[in-house]
Amino acid sequence: MKISELFAKKILTLSFEVFPPKTDDTFDSVKYATEEIAKIKPDFMSVTYGAGGGTSKHTLAIAQNLKNKYGVTLLAHLTCVSSTKEMIKNQLALLTQSGIKNILALRGDIPEGLDRTKFDYKYASDLIKEIKSSGDFCVGGACYPEGHVESENQKKDIEALKIKVDAGCEFLTTQMFFDNNILYNFLYKIRERGITVPIVAGIMPVTNGKQIERICKLSGTYLPQRFKSIVDKYGNYPDAMKQAGIAYATEQIIDLLANGVNNIHIYSMNKPDVAEKIKNNLSDILAVRN
Ligand code: FAD
Repeated sequence: MKISELFAKKILTLSFEVFPPKTDDTFDSVKYATEEIAKIKPDFMSVTYGAGGGTSKHTLAIAQNLKNKYGVTLLAHLTCVSSTKEMIKNQLALLTQSGIKNILALRGDIPEGLDRTKFDYKYASDLIKEIKSSGDFCVGGACYPEGHVESENQKKDIEALKIKVDAGCEFLTTQMFFDNNILYNFLYKIRERGITVPIVAGIMPVTNGKQIERICKLSGTYLPQRFKSIVDKYGNYPDAMKQAGIAYATEQIIDLLANGVNNIHIYSMNKPDVAEKIKNNLSDILAVRN
């Protein structure tokens, strides 16, 4: 099913992101973890894409397996920063053959020293145009409630986002955020700019406090004091950190749903127990459809 059809049909959606194995020898363990997540029956699952390297072939294999074995709606990520038109054409042909109808079209992070003149795409919007003119896909893109790190300011980032949506992007998934007010302010600004596509809120249940502090520093993600206190206290106790991270993410989601943000995407990091606990925490909440 196309995700655009799912959004039109369903009031609330809960979906999960998984990542493919980085090496061939971890394929089976990743396959197992992603299957366990599929058993939770998410509305859809997304599989990330590692630009250029060995993981790109695994994205398709993992997505195809989940789709065929569990009938789950799949969203395959695709990046373009180090791709030629030929490479993208081949990838789109493989996706078509696999019956995957949804693509999250991304530029990808620019690898150090990459000679961009050798490749054909500058922005995600270039890839979106390519996909839209190549086949019958539903295409989504990424958005950044706190602004993309390379962007001079949020206004310019939102202008670029408008270009992306006008290129044919049918929904946007957000980068993780830990303060819902940041998302509400962002939604107000993009709606005012005429960006009306569904926004899927990306939520990261933090299970490794120290790691998230490093990632957030790099991506410029704001960590509220309430969150930092949890990491300070429980960061060195993995089980306690996991429990606190799940509780924090659950609370964030309940607040989002209560405020009309109805599409929630969990960065589940291939952890079926985390995915399942979050879904269980929301079981009665997800049944409320008014
Ligand atoms: P773009 O939309 O092209 O934006 C990149 C920068 O260029 C921004 O600063 C933007 O403001 C600017 N810009 C865009 N268009 C224009 C324009 N027309 N004119 C001027 N400036 C412009 N990475 C992976 O490698 N694999 C993945 O699977 C993956 N999945 C992701 C999923 C989500 C939900 C998110 C939020 C990110 C994901 N990423 C992934 C990371 C992503 O590739 C990086 O954040 C990358 O740096 C930007 O990609 P983008 O598609 O947002 O780029």
